Amino acid sequence: MTTLDDLPIRDDLRGKIPYGAPQLHVPVALNVNENTHPIPEDVAHDIIARIAQALLSLNRYPDREFTALREALAGYLGHGLSPDRIWAANGSNEVLQQVLQAFGGFGRTALGFTPTYSMYPLLSSGVGVEWIGADRDADFELSPETAVRAVEEHDPDIVILCSPNNPTGTPVPLETVRAVADAARGIVVVDEAYAEFAPPGSPSALSLLEGRPRLIVSRTMSKAFAFAGARVGYLAADPAVIDAIRLVRLPYHLSALTQAAAIGAVEHAPQMLAMVDDIRGQRDRISAELAGLGYRPYRSWSNFVLFAGVDDPQATWAALRDRGVLVRDVGIPGTLRVSAGTETETTAFLEAIAAVGR
Ligand SMILES: *Cc1c(COP(=O)(O)O)cnc(C)c1O
Repeated sequence: MTTLDDLPIRDDLRGKIPYGAPQLHVPVALNVNENTHPIPEDVAHDIIARIAQALLSLNRYPDREFTALREALAGYLGHGLSPDRIWAANGSNEVLQQVLQAFGGFGRTALGFTPTYSMYPLLSSGVGVEWIGADRDADFELSPETAVRAVEEHDPDIVILCSPNNPTGTPVPLETVRAVADAARGIVVVDEAYAEFAPPGSPSALSLLEGRPRLIVSRTMSKAFAFAGARVGYLAADPAVIDAIRLVRLPYHLSALTQAAAIGAVEHAPQMLAMVDDIRGQRDRISAELAGLGYRPYRSWSNFVLFAGVDDPQATWAALRDRGVLVRDVGIPGTLRVSAGTETETTAFLEAIAAVGR
């Protein structure tokens, strides 16, 4: 049988492992930070009508510039952003890949603060970018001093700040983003995949874009918008950044069906985001109840909680799975990560972990 090793694969990809959170069918799946609430039915009907309309012209290539979607996303983000400062792709993973293609490439470097999103090193290696993982402060926080020290030490071409950070849930203070943007020579990406779950009124890095043409804020519809299956991510940046991305994107990369569905979802943003408050409430309930059980949850501004004090994460993970609850072992010793689900799902998790015991 032929294996990967028998093929003339690029040397720098040898030994790498693809992204692969287990996709198991369990009653309570809280392992990949999805929004577990379904799409409201009336929104779904409107999206279906838009997709039906788009279907009639699938003989033609879609709008390569997805103009209507960019207008809708600019309106949703606010901050005075115009559509020429918005870009979208099939998930923010593709957005980040395009950024790494345009501003990275062989011989260049990208720096992030670990533990952070596992896709950053994978996306980097795919385009020949060397990934540098720098340390955080205690409890996975990130101060301006710590971040700037790493930027000065490594002088990377791209810095990726994940805020709130996956898998720890911790936000990156705006002063840190500002300090990194000042210190860095290259592109600074703030991945705000979970921004909608921050406390109401928290400032976004979107507020720093004006006058900083090397700053990029990336967002996704996969989490708060409950649209993970549709694959829509986007960014806001200077129009020149978007010109750079046009050099590497595949032509017509966003299908007419994706564009139609995403426009429908963004136009119903208030309904699509109606569950965000509820999810924040379940997140805070998880943190409080886990602390009551003797675990140590980290500060979270996202829709998940990383908690320490797990003696044997693999054993606890398996015991929860046997009770029909799927969480994530992200490989940080003594921890597990759980997404906030519906009230019923969250109750199922909390009862299961109480029963499993420490
Ligand atoms: C989930 C997640 C994303 C979203 O990826 P999509 O490709 O948009 O589904 C991006 N960044 C981080 C840190 C995430 O956790």
